[in-house]
Amino acid sequence: MTTIPDRLQQVKHRISTACQTAGRDPATVGLLAVSKTQAPEAVREAHAAGQCAFGENYIQEGVEKILSLRDLPLVWHMIGPVQSNKTRVVAEHFDWVQSVDRLKTAERLSAQRPGHLPPLNVCLQVNIDQGPNKSGVAPEAALALARGISALPRLRLRGLMALPEFAPDFIAQKSVFTRAQALFDHILAAQLPGWPEFDTLSLGMSADLEAAVASGSTLVRVGTAVFGERAAR
Ligand SMILES: *Cc1c(COP(=O)(O)O)cnc(C)c1O
Repeated sequence: MTTIPDRLQQVKHRISTACQTAGRDPATVGLLAVSKTQAPEAVREAHAAGQCAFGENYIQEGVEKILSLRDLPLVWHMIGPVQSNKTRVVAEHFDWVQSVDRLKTAERLSAQRPGHLPPLNVCLQVNIDQGPNKSGVAPEAALALARGISALPRLRLRGLMALPEFAPDFIAQKSVFTRAQALFDHILAAQLPGWPEFDTLSLGMSADLEAAVASGSTLVRVGTAVFGERAAR
């Protein structure tokens, strides 16, 4: 049987091979283990194998897991949609929110971030392949939104996240990811307040992490390849 530590090793190997191919230092690509639908025990196992950063898609499930694993020093990323009536519980429990795509949501997260916690790290989710019904800010509106967020006192704008439609091969995957990379560079070049902390390009999942690393990803979000297939939710 393949265990979580085995799978983590395999994923790290894929990342380092992709870095080698791309001429990048493997230390510049982080691994976010996406633990949605997985039991807290699976997160414990991954942590025991050295993994510290975890991503959740569903607010209630994520908060329950965060609370039941409070004894471990984990970093939690919200990567799923955050409706504006759910911002408080997110601001109170997560360390990062990668799925911010509206100023109103960002304003609420900032206002509701508890004073005893450090500022909440956020990424703009960009609808990079312009799917009509998809989450994410349109690329042409991303700089203005980044500007708005960078003025909020309790948020720290860290970068961009994109979740493109599945593409069948490396070339197709890379051509979409490269657009996200160009947008990232464009926003970085605007030198918004706090811009030296704008350091995160969250691209790539189990099926396309190699193309993401080739396109400058600094954080791959990997679920299935770390934990195995997800049960239907
Ligand atoms: C589920 C999910 C992932 C991980 O997907 P896998 O294909 O299981 O690696 C990454 N990012 C987001 C936003 C997700 O919802």
